[in-house]
Amino acid sequence: MNKLFIPFCSFALALTIAGCSDTKTPAKETATAETASTETTATTNTAVAEPETPAADASTGSASFAQAEGTKTITLANGATVTWIQDNEGEKLNPRSLFSDASDSLYNSLNMPDGIPASVSTFLVKVDGKYILFDAGLGAFGGQLQKRLAALGVNADSIGLVYLTHFHVDHIAGLVAKDEAGNDAKVFKNAAVYAGKVEYDAWMNDIPKNDLQKNIMGLYKDSLHLFAFGDTLPHGVVAMDAVGHTPGHTAFQLANLLIVGDLMHGYALQKDHPEINSNYDMDKPKSAESRKRIMQYASDNKLLMAGMHLPPPGFAE
Ligand SMILES: [Zn+2]
Repeated sequence: MNKLFIPFCSFALALTIAGCSDTKTPAKETATAETASTETTATTNTAVAEPETPAADASTGSASFAQAEGTKTITLANGATVTWIQDNEGEKLNPRSLFSDASDSLYNSLNMPDGIPASVSTFLVKVDGKYILFDAGLGAFGGQLQKRLAALGVNADSIGLVYLTHFHVDHIAGLVAKDEAGNDAKVFKNAAVYAGKVEYDAWMNDIPKNDLQKNIMGLYKDSLHLFAFGDTLPHGVVAMDAVGHTPGHTAFQLANLLIVGDLMHGYALQKDHPEINSNYDMDKPKSAESRKRIMQYASDNKLLMAGMHLPPPGFAE
């Protein structure tokens, strides 16, 4: 499984996943033991949760999560916590071929011949005593989310809300799993699912190879809420237009946190060159415009960015 390379956001990923063997190196977790007063990093191979270890300084009102592999918890300005959860197993490098916009000279200047460090990530926010999950990850396609939620001591049934940035497979497949009878079943039985109306309409009506999307949205139809850009959603989360990667790609702001979804697939390249798209971006001009606008907004407002394909630990300032 470690050698399986799963490209992010391939339009036909659900159908072609078995054929997606690109360059990939075996799992190599980076051991970092940094612990700031409001941060808890646990990317070592210590897979077992240690509930007796306080995750952070109680004086900051910060996380009470146990440490777990592939996670990092940060306390926000409003006292809520956000936990990065790495959904892919092992190391993830996005290949040079994904960035056709970049010249050879620019790419080579990165000195990353094996690819740009990335991840497949989800983010868990605890606010007002409730759990919100931002995207649901790869699910049956190698997702580690359930294992990592368990290591954090969070039961899937306690997730009250799921906010979706967009409908690519690596963001929604984790919403569904087979039940004992082999039928598709909800993973988050008690969650209200929030999706952008533009994104929903595009996948239901216009985009081909959407069986997985239709199946999942059908499964959650009784708990599905469609929002418009600019809407303020439960717990003060604001939905922002980040269109380009997909027709309704959405960023979400909560206090000083900005969930940026798939705005970036190669952070080392795109942080200084937001004009460069990945080849997964469906509308490249709109994607570049959104990337420039949102990164500027984050910078102007000193927001903490959380990205689904940022390199571990999933955050950028
Ligand atoms: Zn993605």
